[in-house]
Amino acid sequence: MKALEKSKPEEGLWMVQAPVPEIGPDEVLIKINTTGICGTDIHIWNWDDWAAHTVPVPMITGHEFAGEIVELGRNVSGLSIGQRCSGEGHLVRTDSRQSRSGKFHLDPGTRGIGVNEQGAFAQYLRLPAFNVVPLPDDIPDEIGAILDPLGNAVHTALSFDLLGEDVLITGAGPIGIMAAAVARHAGARNVVITDVNPDRLTLAEEVTRVRTVNVAKEDLNDVIHELGLKEGFDVGLEMSGNQQALDQMVEALVMGGKIALLGIPPGKSPVDWSRIVFKAITLKGVYGREMFETWYKMIAMLQNGLDVSRVITHRFAVDDFAEGFAAMKSGQSGKVVLDWTK
Ligand code: NAD
Ligand code: ZN
Repeated sequence: MKALEKSKPEEGLWMVQAPVPEIGPDEVLIKINTTGICGTDIHIWNWDDWAAHTVPVPMITGHEFAGEIVELGRNVSGLSIGQRCSGEGHLVRTDSRQSRSGKFHLDPGTRGIGVNEQGAFAQYLRLPAFNVVPLPDDIPDEIGAILDPLGNAVHTALSFDLLGEDVLITGAGPIGIMAAAVARHAGARNVVITDVNPDRLTLAEEVTRVRTVNVAKEDLNDVIHELGLKEGFDVGLEMSGNQQALDQMVEALVMGGKIALLGIPPGKSPVDWSRIVFKAITLKGVYGREMFETWYKMIAMLQNGLDVSRVITHRFAVDDFAEGFAAMKSGQSGKVVLDWTK
């Protein structure tokens, strides 16, 4: 089969011929139709320090996918050949403290497909049946292929009650933009999203119609005033990984405000802890997606009017993958998807 592989420990990815994976008794084989390129895949392409320390070579990359089941392991029940699906790319164990209390997303032994295990940028993917998420007919493959990052947005956004709340999102990358759409859908009153990249803010505006703020040019305090917010935002969703964005968020929140942190800072970064203490801020770190509550909620929201389709800005046949990665790296794209059927 064709597969997009990190074949050598240097910059780039290579299209190779790899054997179709053999499945175990509790696994399924999925024929991949569409995949999404993630920021993680860019780190692996660039072979930065994180990638070099984390990803063994050779490794088939990719973890955002939609496809259909073509083979079932002998213990698998409740799934069928030909069933369209996406799936959770975090592989978990069932014997940890948190797994045994049903919080599989908090298993410390989590391994990621396309990072620690062979991934989804291939014609076929082997996946535990446990991780499969069937796709309803009204969710196309293209959306199925971005459920992983939409799930990050949903998990973060639903960390706190948003109904009637004023919500600040820092970072208008694909995940921040989708979080803005989710926050609106979940009944927030005002939703404001910040960035320093005008292209990203234009896309956010087009996709979500929320108030966008270029914090390189505009003062968030003016926006708070303009919106008539008495003391600031109730909830913050940090989706940039940028230190200044977090500082601004803490300042822009009400006393007792809540922050869910998804963005990953590049290294250790200084935090004004006393400011957080005296403002009585609640902080919650967010990793991945809840298994499988996030998947349940996001599919329900998509079936109930949530529309994130316009966050997909580029589509390529898989042989043109290099163009797809270039679009992602340009900082001018939303989500980029690759079609494996062409
Ligand atoms: P992205 O890099 O495409 O978007 C981040 C955005 O933040 C960019 O548009 C950038 O211009 C913007 N930004 C930079 N400085 C800013 C500032 N001072 N104020 C406001 N915005 C600023 O990333 P993405 O794919 O949308 O993902 C969002 C974040 O979530 C990333 O940090 C990513 O690493 C992280 N992430 C975490 C998890 C997890 O499980 N915790 C999963 C996926 C992604
Ligand atoms: Zn991803």
